[in-house]
Amino acid sequence: MTWCEACDRDFDLGLLTENGDCPACGNWLADPKGAGSVPWHFWLVLIGAVVYLGWRALQGIYWGLQQIG
Ligand SMILES: [Zn+2]
Repeated sequence: MTWCEACDRDFDLGLLTENGDCPACGNWLADPKGAGSVPWHFWLVLIGAVVYLGWRALQGIYWGLQQIG
């Protein structure tokens, strides 16, 4: 349960909007479940994967150019 001061009542977390807002007045009350609470190392892995795939793509392009030339 989470308390909304504006409404002066509490709401079950399942009743909040997908953004974690109060369903009655729209006040932000809690972090949304699942989305938005991505841990920092997720982004580290994502950036690493993008850099790696970008590097491999560049290697592929160079390989292709060498085959033409
Ligand atoms: Zn409210």
